[in-house]
Amino acid sequence: MSNGSPTQPDPSSAETGHGPDTRWSAQATEFPESTGSSGTAGAEAARRSRRMGMRLLVALGVLAPTCFAGWLVWQSADQSSGAGGSAPTLMPLPDNTPPGGVNASGGGGGAQAGTDGKPLAGKTVVIDPGHNPNNRDHAAAINRSVSIGTGRKACDTTGTATASGYSEAEFTLDLARRVRSGLLKKGAAVELTHNGRRPWGPCVDSRARAGNQADADAVVSLHADGAPAGSRGFHVILPESVNEGVADTRPIVGPSRGLGRELADAFRKFTGSKPASYAGDGEGTDTRGDLGGLNLSRVPKVFLECGNMRDPRDAADLTDRDWRARAARGVVEGVAGYLTQKR
Ligand SMILES: [Zn+2]
Repeated sequence: MSNGSPTQPDPSSAETGHGPDTRWSAQATEFPESTGSSGTAGAEAARRSRRMGMRLLVALGVLAPTCFAGWLVWQSADQSSGAGGSAPTLMPLPDNTPPGGVNASGGGGGAQAGTDGKPLAGKTVVIDPGHNPNNRDHAAAINRSVSIGTGRKACDTTGTATASGYSEAEFTLDLARRVRSGLLKKGAAVELTHNGRRPWGPCVDSRARAGNQADADAVVSLHADGAPAGSRGFHVILPESVNEGVADTRPIVGPSRGLGRELADAFRKFTGSKPASYAGDGEGTDTRGDLGGLNLSRVPKVFLECGNMRDPRDAADLTDRDWRARAARGVVEGVAGYLTQKR
């Protein structure tokens, strides 16, 4: 939600935080044994040999208690550790390395952008799941005020919910995880501002700092609205140009608009949802200067209000797993569209 009254919580009270457990990297997650494509054939053979040696040692740990031939495996592994022995043929093991042993987009450095379906390699995206399912149990903590750059607002809010009780916070967390998965597959490093393991929050100022500290190329704060039933559709909230107090959004207004437009187009395309008729410009974007999560951001950032949880038909979408999968695809493709055009 985004209107800011105590009973109509505000995504500015719903923003970003930072936890050490939320950092995810495509390389670490998806290429535990990436081989790289550079280097001499000899070096590659040596690396392959070392890897196979490691696998054999791992296999030994599994097999030794039950396998009489364990010592033979050990021998082979030891011999292969020099320069490419024949040991691997003795012990075929599960292997995540692609056929041929080389992944052109791998290498672990994340610097080879645009190769082999990893168009976002080298890019960092922060996804902010609005609110927190546990906020409802920590009223005092989330009601304390924090700076939003131009003034002060509550640390965070509970967010809204559907008539059946599916909360905005549960929705944003589920969607954020789906989006993270999609962005990782495209090679981005992805950070969530929280992953549902915190007792409450984080506060809005902390959510904004997460994007800044990550030096993110793009930040998307995920929400769903709590407007009256009958109001339907999605909208993207862009930062207004604000230069007041410690808030200075002037450098991010332009790029955030680019991000927002890509996001609105892709979200509409993949969900079939229409731009909200009750908020924004009717084309799916709105501009606001009262949200701490935008005012305090130093990197391109937008809020996405995915639909209206208080409207029965929108709620039917928001509670549907298949729809959320399409929504996540829309967010991923929108972010990717922005980041690849920017290149
Ligand atoms: Zn919200």
